[in-house]
Amino acid sequence: MKVLVTGGAGYIGSHLVETLLTRGDEVFVIDNLSTGKIANIQHQIGKPRFRFVNDTILNESLVDRLAAQVDLVYHLAAVVGVKYVVQDPLAAVYTNVRGTEVVLGAAFRHWKKAVLASSSEIYGKSDKVPFHEEDDRVLGPTSIPRWSYSMAKAIDELYAYAYHAKGLPVAIVRYFNSYGPRLDERGYSSVVANFIRQALAGEPITVHGDGSQTRCFTYMDDTVRGTLLAGEVKAGEGQAFNIGNNRETSILELAKLIKRLTRSDSKIILVPYESYYGEGFEDTRRRVPSIERARKVLGFKPKVDLSEGLRRTIAWWRKDHRR
Ligand code: UDP
Repeated sequence: MKVLVTGGAGYIGSHLVETLLTRGDEVFVIDNLSTGKIANIQHQIGKPRFRFVNDTILNESLVDRLAAQVDLVYHLAAVVGVKYVVQDPLAAVYTNVRGTEVVLGAAFRHWKKAVLASSSEIYGKSDKVPFHEEDDRVLGPTSIPRWSYSMAKAIDELYAYAYHAKGLPVAIVRYFNSYGPRLDERGYSSVVANFIRQALAGEPITVHGDGSQTRCFTYMDDTVRGTLLAGEVKAGEGQAFNIGNNRETSILELAKLIKRLTRSDSKIILVPYESYYGEGFEDTRRRVPSIERARKVLGFKPKVDLSEGLRRTIAWWRKDHRR
């Protein structure tokens, strides 16, 4: 197959590209290296079945030309990471909404199947865990920048459903805190990356609030497998899928686990949210996916548990991590 991966130099995108190339596909990547890194795809450059275009998904004629050449589009390019979104709300809203208009618009014009990468942020601060795909969303006010990402991704999903209503094969994946090699403390997996960096440097491990907020950390291999399945399974078209591990872990537990696995002397300290995000931040207290639908329709099942995934991630960090 010929596949276009937008955001293919990013943390998840570059792993997806690797899997596609390994299985024999021809892969086109468009990435403007805003949060993606050339180091993530350096080893692919020059391979006959790989092409990298360093440009933005806002470049409509380019995206159109690329979509015309492929069979399938994985749309992962986005402004990601709560910290980025809070720091630059305009980029988060504009790139995430306009960029998806461009990419899904091109897929529609050329009638190519598309998989839209969305997020567990969609559910906002709802306290009805686990989150089912058709549950209500609970968001704070529009004046709190954090929720702009959830809003933008919701509009992206609305586009996906709207194109599907016109007959285009589209599926949506909602990622739950993916982590693994190539994670980036500036963007995705910021808490896992921050804690590993702090633990290895012997610096205090900074837990926000009281550390009782929870997440379900999903190892990269599982994230990528769920994404691929959404592109492959016909019955998944027209639906959103939670792609995540359903084991719930508090941030304080995560800090302790990383401290133990790195054999670090770092202290674990509790710091106020404002010290990291600035004033007026709202957090999601618990975030747990229901993975029933992904299991039934896609045959998705997470395989790598948190300790094992962290061991692999820490090993990568020690060997290959570059800031
Ligand atoms: N967090 C933390 N210390 C850090 C970075 C993040 O305690 O150095 C917390 C953050 O406040 C949130 C959780 O870890 O409660 C997950 O944050 P992240 O930015 O990784 O992703 P989110 O799940 O919020 O999108």
